[in-house]
Amino acid sequence: MSGCTPPQAEVNSKVFDTLCTEYLEAMSRSPNRDRLLNQWIPLRSLLPEIHMDLKPWFRPPPELLANRPQTPTAAIAKLLAGNQRLLTSTAECACDELYPHSPPKQTPFGIVLGCSDARAPLELVFDAEPNQLFVVRVAGNVLGDECLGSIEYALYNFQESLRVLVVLGHTGCGAVTAAVRTYLSPKRAAGIAFSRSLRSVVNHILVAVRSAALSMEQVWGIDIHQQPGYPEALVELAVALNAAMTAYQLKLELKAHDLKEPEVVYGVIDLVTSRVVGPPDMESVALSPAPNDPSELVGLGVQLARSHAVTKHMNLIRGPFAGDSTTQG
Ligand SMILES: [Zn+2]
Repeated sequence: MSGCTPPQAEVNSKVFDTLCTEYLEAMSRSPNRDRLLNQWIPLRSLLPEIHMDLKPWFRPPPELLANRPQTPTAAIAKLLAGNQRLLTSTAECACDELYPHSPPKQTPFGIVLGCSDARAPLELVFDAEPNQLFVVRVAGNVLGDECLGSIEYALYNFQESLRVLVVLGHTGCGAVTAAVRTYLSPKRAAGIAFSRSLRSVVNHILVAVRSAALSMEQVWGIDIHQQPGYPEALVELAVALNAAMTAYQLKLELKAHDLKEPEVVYGVIDLVTSRVVGPPDMESVALSPAPNDPSELVGLGVQLARSHAVTKHMNLIRGPFAGDSTTQG
């Protein structure tokens, strides 16, 4: 496809149209069609200036959320219709190399380990094109043997193109929430992680949850767990620590294999704002370098325990615990 270089705005427009076809279909059937279209069309006309706006996709109206196939047959038909739309849109390209005799060489510049959560599709989160990211998705973005094996496969086969390895957690992660509930209510653990496989996912995350709980106690005192909103705060902190710990583990793996690249980074995507943030800063769009040693992880936990992203879940009327002598994480 190297000979195909349409203007960037045109490319963006095609991608945008493909992504939003279902959104427009849903709107056309909506009783609020006119209101929704009035919101949508101005955004569409701004495309060349704003690149690609995914806001309607990340925060769809209830009408779109209700638009789900009701039977397996309908679900399969929906998938195939999507592939047909893809074929139709690519057929519009005037490129002479539309039907190459072999698939392009796989040349991802990044590996991304993320959660399977349907609201956090990694290529779309980073607005990446096909063949740019080698993606591994598993609940809680935990680093099990198969995930690590997939990443090692990429490391050894795509060394020429790989430059970065990303671990991406997300706010409100169900797997992390299950681990927090297990930690806070051990007697109910069997009901929360009801199968051996599910317990395996939860067990991977429990270390981050325990570390998050210790950080909260260090900063806010040992009775902080009694505070309303504490479980939500613990999930928020554990999501970031879980990503950071996995990034640290992967950095050790690269070291063990004597690989200086790719650089290992981590972050958290906020499912409300679509923003990828790099802890401990939970506000700016960023990815953070993997911690170098366990002490950095401890410091990160303390910083995050003080952060607004965590404390916003609790109605704290006191300052940080007087016994907390940590000044820098
Ligand atoms: Zn998740």
